[in-house]
Amino acid sequence: MRRTIAILGSTGSIGRQTLEVVEEHPDLFEVYAITANRSADLLIEQARKFKPEVVVIADESCYEKVKDALADLPIKVWTGADSLCQVVTAGPIDVVVTAMVGFAGLRPTVEAIKAQKALALANKETLVVAGQLIEGLCAEYQVPILPVDSEHSAIFQCLQGESVAKGCFPWLASAKSEDENGEKRPTYLDNPIDKLIITASGGPFRTFTMEQMRDVTAAQALKHPNWDMGAKITIDSASMMNKGFEVIEARWLFGMTTDRIEVAVHPQSIVHSMVQFADGAIKAQLGCPDMKVPIAYALSYPERMPSAINGKLRLEDYANLTFERPDLERFPNLRLAFEALAKGGDRTCVLNAANEVTNEAFRRGQCKFLQMAEVNERTMQAMPFVARPSLDDYFAIDAEARVKAREILANL
Ligand code: NDP
Repeated sequence: MRRTIAILGSTGSIGRQTLEVVEEHPDLFEVYAITANRSADLLIEQARKFKPEVVVIADESCYEKVKDALADLPIKVWTGADSLCQVVTAGPIDVVVTAMVGFAGLRPTVEAIKAQKALALANKETLVVAGQLIEGLCAEYQVPILPVDSEHSAIFQCLQGESVAKGCFPWLASAKSEDENGEKRPTYLDNPIDKLIITASGGPFRTFTMEQMRDVTAAQALKHPNWDMGAKITIDSASMMNKGFEVIEARWLFGMTTDRIEVAVHPQSIVHSMVQFADGAIKAQLGCPDMKVPIAYALSYPERMPSAINGKLRLEDYANLTFERPDLERFPNLRLAFEALAKGGDRTCVLNAANEVTNEAFRRGQCKFLQMAEVNERTMQAMPFVARPSLDDYFAIDAEARVKAREILANL
């Protein structure tokens, strides 16, 4: 069956790889919409190649350029943040790939859910900020979330045939079907899970002491040992904020409590994550570090598409697969994520907002590597606790936490 997709953030690392997957399977996918913030040239190039119905350039100063460049094609060109919310609701779209980075992905994701579009979710910040709200909306509008993040895709794959109902498909938890005698039966298997084990490469500073980390530069942090990703997530990987966010993401995608989510540092990035069941068995998903694999699975689920472009793992190339415990002292952002998740309410929203500020400040050379976690923690301490934020509250809390984080940064 041909699926019609919209890609929010088509010019980014995930967005570009999504288009590579689509290009390999033109018979299976049609691109309805692509969007970018400011990368006008690449958006134009993508539009000319994939011929979507709509392109959105969020930054209004780039609108004329994109519009003029596509004037000879029957492609609608929209601009502004509201257009991102509008485009995801278009009737023909089956799946929205949320490949935007940061808090900006929240509102279009909410609109896509309300329009009952399946989500292929890469924008983890949406779940970090408002996981509980998104979980409720997905249940209300009966919308599945197919994970794109490689760790969550791995867990999702391990759960196939085991406990699919609780992973990513919240409404199925109560779904029953009737057998021929009119008896209600569960439509899924529900084997008890002991814990989710999220693997982490440990990033470029895995073996560094605090002293060594004190003066590392953004250029060093941007050299991830195994993955080629966008700048923000690469810095988050170096500080292990990304792993903390993935723990939060897993909590909402798979309905697991915090005490049942573990992180294992696995420098080879071959085991993408694992599930341990109550009988002690562990299932793991392995593969090359290649995001096209989880992207393709999210787009074709429940089927798998053959691929000539995806990385194929040769186990004999890896004599050692090693696992170690993460060090929460050297990587305090990971501890902050566990603490924020345990406390609940608006804490993960505050952490995300502070981290967006400090991540950018570090990339611009405005703060040191270890100061990112320090400012994140002090922002969390400074912000009042809101137990049950609404969607509007999240926007206000995000804005307030950014101001607070900038204030703390300025006074370091
Ligand atoms: P990139 O920075 O490479 O791309 C981000 C995309 O979002 C670009 O298309 C960018 O447009 C667009 N964008 C950024 N800000 C805005 C905005 N305010 N309004 C509209 N569009 C915006 O990020 P990645 O692809 O690396 O990451 C995307 C998401 O996927 C993140 O949430 C990340 O955590 C997650 N993820 C990424 C992985 C990876 O391998 N890269 C792995 C797993 C998860 P423009 O080009 O114009 O700036």
